[in-house]
Amino acid sequence: MNFSKRSPFVKEIMFERIYPSKIILPMKMHYGVPAVPAVKTGDYVRIGQCVGVPQKGAFSVPVHSGISGKVSDISEIRLPNGIITPAVTIVNDMKRTRLDSIKPRSGFKISATETINIIRDAGICGMGGEGIPTAAKLKRARNEIVKDFLVNCLQSEPYSTCDLVAITEYPDYVVMGACACARAVGASRCVFLISENRKEQRKALSNSIDKIKSDFKDLEFDIKLFRERFPQGYYRLVARALYGKNLVLGETLEKSCRAVLFNCSTMLACWEALSDNIPMMSRIVSVTGDASGGHNMLVPIGTPVSELLSNAQDVRNGSDRIIWGNCLTGIEIKDPEHTPVVKTTSVISAVRRAEVPKTPCIHCGLCSECCPMNLSPNTIYEMLNQGLRQKASEEGARDCIACGSCSYVCPAGINLTTAIASFAGEGRIIEVNSLLDNSGLEDMTYDNYEAPALGGTSLLEDYSDDDDNKNKKSSDTITLPFERDKEV
Ligand code: SF4
Ligand code: SF4
Repeated sequence: MNFSKRSPFVKEIMFERIYPSKIILPMKMHYGVPAVPAVKTGDYVRIGQCVGVPQKGAFSVPVHSGISGKVSDISEIRLPNGIITPAVTIVNDMKRTRLDSIKPRSGFKISATETINIIRDAGICGMGGEGIPTAAKLKRARNEIVKDFLVNCLQSEPYSTCDLVAITEYPDYVVMGACACARAVGASRCVFLISENRKEQRKALSNSIDKIKSDFKDLEFDIKLFRERFPQGYYRLVARALYGKNLVLGETLEKSCRAVLFNCSTMLACWEALSDNIPMMSRIVSVTGDASGGHNMLVPIGTPVSELLSNAQDVRNGSDRIIWGNCLTGIEIKDPEHTPVVKTTSVISAVRRAEVPKTPCIHCGLCSECCPMNLSPNTIYEMLNQGLRQKASEEGARDCIACGSCSYVCPAGINLTTAIASFAGEGRIIEVNSLLDNSGLEDMTYDNYEAPALGGTSLLEDYSDDDDNKNKKSSDTITLPFERDKEV
């Protein structure tokens, strides 16, 4: 679907920074086992401090605070997606006191293993999808020997523009993060995927590539233009568009196309961790919809949705639904005050409640026309309704990527997506597991992760000199251009 041709979906992009009065940090914002709170009520925490440690021996991700202040509560919360997780609430003292370890890294060589470990310890997970730990995906790509390192700059969801803002505001960081990660996995080509309509962002990426390519002579660079349509960035669609391959469930981009795909905002977070020792503690979120302007807010992770809304005064005008995610596939938020922005929240949508008359299927064929996976959603829906799961499977139901397009276009108001996507959801679990299983990721678990002592430095500080590079295999050694005062 081409939302850019539907004028209400195109917003003027605004960029703001928000300092919330408190943050609520869920211990599970990623694919894997929840972290364990490493602070107690009454503790003082600083910006960058680890407040949630990965469970010993578990596939997990640490959680860091993006504000300074006192821990006021540690209790279980329920996220809109149904996940129940412990959460640490911190009241902002507005002093912005940060850990001493958050400072530019300079003057040393860094190995591929260290690059991946820094990203692991910074708590970075994919910011555009299920929150798969980025280090695990990098490790897997390194094991699979990929050639192409793909950076998804497409952002095709209606209203969302946070990735575009990341590119416009921090193009050098996006490109540097991609180069560093491409080297870490041993790729030879760094390819940025972007919509042909995004001229400003294309120019920003081109300028950054020109600026830094002399530091990465071993890498080829390319910018691939895609048509503006939704959905675009899902890896199976990218495999089809770039390599002409139709991947079946469980087939990976790495194995089938010798490529790996990352979101551009994730690359920005990686470079912040690598260059400035900044763990994943903030992100840009679009606050937008048919009832509001195109706000984009740089917020600490954990910021309550209510604080975003109060900073976007136009949101409430005429809107009566606030959605956690995009308006096609997101989940309605019932309690914005206690619902936080998590690492994977790219957009909060404010939409009017549309009253669609519900009728039986009129066989208009619109759902099949718009399905990016070439399915017949109405046929599959009927099969599932009749309990014919095997037949639905044979009809390709497991290929559904939950894009929401079929429900959106259906004039009969049939919620095709929920039925088909939840059936396919079992397949998605297989898909994600296929990424993580049997791929030599044992060392991506944490044997003994310790939260930094109060007033101490973050775990990232462990990588602040080049001692770790001794005894490294040559294939593990890469050089990143950390030169003092060098502008990136
Ligand atoms: S939600 Fe699934 S069935 Fe519906 S259009 Fe998207 S991919 Fe096709
Ligand atoms: S879009 Fe709705 S009404 Fe049209 S064929 Fe599909 S299910 Fe039936």
